[in-house]
Amino acid sequence: MLKVCKFGGSSVAGAEQFRKVRDIVLSDESRRVVVISAAGKRFGDDHKLTDLLYLIHAHLTYGVSCDEILKTVEDRLTAIRDELDIPVDIAAELAAFHRRLSKDTSADEIVSRGEYFTARLMAAFLGYAFVDAADCVFFGLDGGLDRETTDAAIAEALERHGRIVIPGFYGQLPTGRLRVMSRGGSDITGAIAAAAVNADIYENWTDVSGILMADPRIVDNPAPIEKITFAELRELAYMGASVLHEESVQPVKERGIPLNIRNTNRPEDPGTMIVESVSEDEQTERFITGIAGRKNFTIVTVYKHAMKLSHSLRQALEIYDRFDVPVEHITLGLDSFALVSPTAVLGDAVYDIIAEIKKNCRPDEVDIRENIAMVSAVGRKMSSQPGVSGRLFRALGDEGINIRTIAQGSDELAITVGIENEQYEKAIRVLYSSFAG
Ligand code: ASP
Repeated sequence: MLKVCKFGGSSVAGAEQFRKVRDIVLSDESRRVVVISAAGKRFGDDHKLTDLLYLIHAHLTYGVSCDEILKTVEDRLTAIRDELDIPVDIAAELAAFHRRLSKDTSADEIVSRGEYFTARLMAAFLGYAFVDAADCVFFGLDGGLDRETTDAAIAEALERHGRIVIPGFYGQLPTGRLRVMSRGGSDITGAIAAAAVNADIYENWTDVSGILMADPRIVDNPAPIEKITFAELRELAYMGASVLHEESVQPVKERGIPLNIRNTNRPEDPGTMIVESVSEDEQTERFITGIAGRKNFTIVTVYKHAMKLSHSLRQALEIYDRFDVPVEHITLGLDSFALVSPTAVLGDAVYDIIAEIKKNCRPDEVDIRENIAMVSAVGRKMSSQPGVSGRLFRALGDEGINIRTIAQGSDELAITVGIENEQYEKAIRVLYSSFAG
């Protein structure tokens, strides 16, 4: 058994969190590959190392002294080392880093040091070998990951050392320069490492006990999702749930490695298991896996008596495409079709788009409706259960929520309704209490 564990910024924010990570890692022999983020916030208005490092770069660029911020970074790291008595001469390395800084130092080089130093400390604290991401995560000339070289380097490092810690978030370009990924990129490094060593499981340790069934800012204490498929996760992410994004899931998904989201502060909680498929006898009682949604959509509805649907729809979609406006949902009627897009992206282009539709499709009427929220109930069980959509519409109707549009994917993984923006929160609460509470 081999587990790859990634610990996020809040899991390594200070000495106390370091201890929790050590307890978790050393309690299971199979946790042999550890990926570490930069120290994050310890409390509400604390700073993430990554943010401080970006600030250092901005100061250098504009020729303003960054000594004070640098001192804050150094103090954070030295405090962890001192409190835990970690045998790493971090002061010498920090001093060398300080000397190297100039207005020409790249943001990537500076910002990557958050992960580098935090991982250096963690490796020594765990007694694991430190493997620099510069030596095992490689980008190609196009800036994309060079998976083949990366896979081989990580697998070789594990083979050589047995137990390794890798800093997340950055890697090396063919030019030898460092490059950081998008924010939150340590999740990607974790997934790449799990795929590279063909792990039995990829554990992503954070500060919540898994993915919640609904947004906790709207629903009180939503239950965590025990098991979810990659496809359901994608639907939830698409609808706006703040869950792992595609790039940090793909490497494990394509190798069939399950991903377990766990809470460093409550390691006894099972968290959420993300898997390719769930067998019939493992199914839960729940019809719905999760609920997500977003506000501020615009629906453009095109009416034309006895239209040739495929023709008019294609023309309309081409127009949207030309204006680079995504169509996120489509609903069809006998003599009409409706296209749903985010209002902010549509912007003023909506007038030109409608003018073009009028010119090309020659409709009887075009109707535009703004301030629409789209809410999705996502669940793999829905396809096998008759009557779920009926229950869902009734629950919303009973609470006086008027449904403006309905979209159900042909894979029956989600039912999506368009409602008024102002009823968004209420709709999420109604769906949660009818299906999950
Ligand atoms: N430290 C980086 C960030 O704050 C990367 C990460 O935490 O995954 O975005």
